[in-house]
Amino acid sequence: MYEEWLQQQKKKQVNAQIVSFVARFAKANGNDTEWQKVKRDYEDSDIWKSLRAQVLKRAHNQCERCKGSTNSVGPLQVHHNTYERVGGREKMSDLEGLCFPCHKIANEEREQLRSTEREENYQVARLAGTLNWFATRYLKLGEDWNVVDP
Ligand SMILES: [Zn+2]
Repeated sequence: MYEEWLQQQKKKQVNAQIVSFVARFAKANGNDTEWQKVKRDYEDSDIWKSLRAQVLKRAHNQCERCKGSTNSVGPLQVHHNTYERVGGREKMSDLEGLCFPCHKIANEEREQLRSTEREENYQVARLAGTLNWFATRYLKLGEDWNVVDP
């Protein structure tokens, strides 16, 4: 009975920590220095250490990309494919156990993807702005929307 209660308390505590990390990551979004700081704190947490251990166990002393054995490629690092669920909500498929060279490549790939997403978001925002401009003008001027201002 007490054991069960203790387990529940522990679970609540972990959930509260996850909520806190997720909120801190969200708040730091766009501020790289702050974001790296939150990431360092997160990497020190038991939540991350447990996820990390699960990935390393899954990798079985073998880089999950090049399949190199840790005997030849050295110790594995745990890579985030996406930061979408960073802070303790990562799916196992968000993480990879990689050797140093594969980790470097994987990081570059992720950053490339992120900058493509940023560029797409910018283009969508720009298009929305243009459409809004036309819509506002049409509502104001009706059929004369395309007449140049006097
Ligand atoms: Zn590798």
